[in-house]
Amino acid sequence: MPELPEVETVRRSLEPHLRGHVISACEIRPPGFNHKAPPELLRAALGKKILAVRRRGKYLILDLSDEKNLIMHLGMSGRLSLGEDGAHARFILRAGPASVVFQDPRRFGRVGCALPPLGPEPLSGEFTVEHLRRTLSRSRASVKSILMDQSVVAGIGNIYATEALYLAKIRPNRPGRRVSREECARLHAAIRRTLTLAVKSGGSTLEDESFLDPRGRPGGFQKFVNVYGRKIGRACGHDLRATPKPLAGRTSLYCPLCQK
Ligand SMILES: [Zn+2]
Repeated sequence: MPELPEVETVRRSLEPHLRGHVISACEIRPPGFNHKAPPELLRAALGKKILAVRRRGKYLILDLSDEKNLIMHLGMSGRLSLGEDGAHARFILRAGPASVVFQDPRRFGRVGCALPPLGPEPLSGEFTVEHLRRTLSRSRASVKSILMDQSVVAGIGNIYATEALYLAKIRPNRPGRRVSREECARLHAAIRRTLTLAVKSGGSTLEDESFLDPRGRPGGFQKFVNVYGRKIGRACGHDLRATPKPLAGRTSLYCPLCQK
């Protein structure tokens, strides 16, 4: 699933093409997509100017000139591409000279949805060690599923939670309240370091993921991945293992020697 770095990559790529332009087409391609986008919302977007292209967590937000916005979520494998139509096109947006197509073979993507309650942006000043520590200390849930809870911190999914926990040397299935103060500070730093590098790299394009930016280019963070989708830890060379139970519904790899 596209996480913060992938959605930010999409945002940066689309912004110069969309910002300041008036929407001339905004249409859903039926069937079976976007129950949450009422036709009147799409009709209302026609003729409005796109004032900003923002991201919040894994959501892409177009701020429109009528003070409303159009929110999109890429779901599991949705892709926004510039100027190319295709068999899986579910949504088309035209603004100025740009044409953006939302392709979504698995149909988990959404257009015109509302923003759910989201925790702080992990790369902002609002995401503090104290916030992370307070949240972890109150929970018996696994530290990995807490990191993937969008109401705790926005934008982290399986890939970046896995990588940050490896850097912080914490096992993904450790209960949140058993993470020490020192480990919490390490985890906070690891989250920022991982996401910063991933944004800089244009996101991750892994074997089981189909992420491409709107111009069809793959990301580069896969070169730096230590654990996710691997058998051996890239940095440590140890054999990796999966937790006995999936966490937040996902297989969770870790290094049994480096992560306690
Ligand atoms: Zn190791």
